[in-house]
Amino acid sequence: MATVAFIGLGIMGRPMAVNLVKAGFDVRGFSRTGRSRDAAAAQGVPIVGSLDAAVADADVVITMLPDTPDVEAVALGDGGALAGMRRGALYIDMSTIDPEGALRVHDAAARAGIGCLDAPVSGGEVASIEGTLSIMAGGTREDFDAARELFYAIGASAILVGGAGSGQVVKAANQLMVAGHLQMLAEAIVLLKAHDVDERGALAVLGAGLAGSTVLARKQNAILEQDYRPGFRVELHNKDLAIVQNAARRKGVALPATALVSQFMQALVAQGYGALDHSALYLLADELNTRRAEAMV
Ligand code: NAD
Repeated sequence: MATVAFIGLGIMGRPMAVNLVKAGFDVRGFSRTGRSRDAAAAQGVPIVGSLDAAVADADVVITMLPDTPDVEAVALGDGGALAGMRRGALYIDMSTIDPEGALRVHDAAARAGIGCLDAPVSGGEVASIEGTLSIMAGGTREDFDAARELFYAIGASAILVGGAGSGQVVKAANQLMVAGHLQMLAEAIVLLKAHDVDERGALAVLGAGLAGSTVLARKQNAILEQDYRPGFRVELHNKDLAIVQNAARRKGVALPATALVSQFMQALVAQGYGALDHSALYLLADELNTRRAEAMV
């Protein structure tokens, strides 16, 4: 079985690495914080002491890091992963980053004689644990075919959506749709509460019809129980919506509803809610409808 270096063992990366170990891959995990390394080790992921030790001799290197600068810091430069990998190996970035950043990584990999895929994922922590992620890959058919077995150890679906950077473009589309669904779910719950309708019954009906969505199925409990432990952090979704806006601007297309929900996500960060799950969009929808006038008059 292939040797896989897995860099970035956070909410998403840790269960992905665990599933690769379970599938029989020879995994070497590395992550920046001792806490994330210890948590992965406790779940059976073999941990090494440095990035160099993880990537040297690996057949495949996967990164699952927060943002574009993190991926570029780990992948590029003299001490980076690409410099430490052997020619002919495969580098797969599964983080959500700017498509332009993904292109820079693809270029550097090509210069080093290393295969490369941008392969972000959807499905969140639950799908990561279940091994049912949806994987959208950009790169060559040859590199995608080389990664196929690995992808199906962590995902239920893996699709090559185009050349270098395409996976990140599709992920940007995914993130604007998820944000929109969440905002509409939050507003629907505000309306249901205002009319004293049985919320759980109402959401069950909505979920069975055209309004049903994975967002509704997975996120309604967080809102109904006001339990905003992440999941997917507001600050990461805010990062993704900036990626969406930049990608739209680069091609000169207008996404007005995305711009609106992006401002709500930004407001959550401004109010200090960045570490909460993105279902906390409900807090703003609720706040907009909370009476405050009496305190002013
Ligand atoms: P996270 O913050 O929980 O995990 C990131 C991990 O990377 C942390 O353990 C951190 O220690 C490690 N790290 C950061 N810089 C590093 C470095 N220089 N070297 C080694 N390790 C480093 O984030 P997450 O929720 O796991 O998300 C990871 C990526 O996946 C993000 O791009 C996010 O947008 C994307 N994503 C997240 C979800 C979700 O539901 N959480 C879903 C789909 C995609």
